[in-house]
Amino acid sequence: MFDRHNTKQIKVGNISIGHSDDVIIQSMCNTKTYDTTNTIKQINELEKVGCQLVRVSVPDVKSAESIETIKNNINIPLVADIHYDYKLALMCIDRGIDKIRINPGNIGDDSKIKILVDACKSKNIPIRIGVNSGSLNKKILEKFDGKVTAKGLFLSAKENIELLEKYNFYDTIVSIKSSNVLMMVEAYKMFADVYNYPLHLGVTEAGTLLSGSIKSSVGLGILLNYGLGDTIRVSLSANPIEEIVVAKKILRSLNLYNKGFEVISCPTCARTKIDIIKITKEVEKSLDYLDSDRLIKVAIMGCAVNGPGEAIEADIGIAGGDGEALLFKKGKIIKKIDENNIVDILLDNINEILKEDLYE
Ligand code: SF4
Repeated sequence: MFDRHNTKQIKVGNISIGHSDDVIIQSMCNTKTYDTTNTIKQINELEKVGCQLVRVSVPDVKSAESIETIKNNINIPLVADIHYDYKLALMCIDRGIDKIRINPGNIGDDSKIKILVDACKSKNIPIRIGVNSGSLNKKILEKFDGKVTAKGLFLSAKENIELLEKYNFYDTIVSIKSSNVLMMVEAYKMFADVYNYPLHLGVTEAGTLLSGSIKSSVGLGILLNYGLGDTIRVSLSANPIEEIVVAKKILRSLNLYNKGFEVISCPTCARTKIDIIKITKEVEKSLDYLDSDRLIKVAIMGCAVNGPGEAIEADIGIAGGDGEALLFKKGKIIKKIDENNIVDILLDNINEILKEDLYE
């Protein structure tokens, strides 16, 4: 584990963000918030995969009115994403929201911020200041010849922090997002040099499942490796469930999430005599959406060169032969299996491991 930046700890509903707590995985619904049936369904599905905090957009009164119903039917804390209209935030606060995300720059004059801050304070509701490269204010842009820069993003976060501090509000979480990975990394580092507010990390508008996962892994990976980041959101143009799957993989590769399944698979080569690519895809498709209390390693290897070594290290694994494979479990060869049965046998054995863990 890396030395984590010592941030302030902030309570958000039944979890806390910051200090030495685990990095919280979050996502955002893409349902209409007022469509409470589908929003609740999506949140509960996200929770099942490992989402610990979820955000919904509140663009109108009917969305704000839905907050109570949503809250009553979910288990994880709920965040309202508010732009322009502070009254919508007040409605959400009245209806049990756990956290408010605003960009103070677009809420209007300071008197509105004060009303909002006082309402949050009265119910111990934290605020996330969400600075975004797409919505920097004119004054800051002008300082840098109209260009978005890391310094400009940092100054925007600083300005917003100072505004909340002016009203004695300190339960603040900060994000400084950009679709430019290096700029976002630089801005977060500048911020962390000065402040100890918890950081919500994200590369904004990162792209589709593949491109967005790569950009997010690089950006979040660099920052997490510096010990920065208390909660992460992987933004993808994809089903939000995939955001959780990717977030878990990013954290897992940095030893910051020691749960779920790590699939180790070989890249295949001329020695491969079974369809490793198909087998791995099928196994991963099942395991990505499951969680477990400890990290379970599954090795899917093509041949006897590296196969047995990796498979023996893993909780369960196979080393491929010609139309067949050796099944390894906890370091021991169990049996030879036919290529056609590999996926089913691996998944059955993984279920057995989960059951054994339960009784250990
Ligand atoms: Fe090739 Fe074997 Fe390595 Fe897979 S494990 S890439 S089959 S040498």
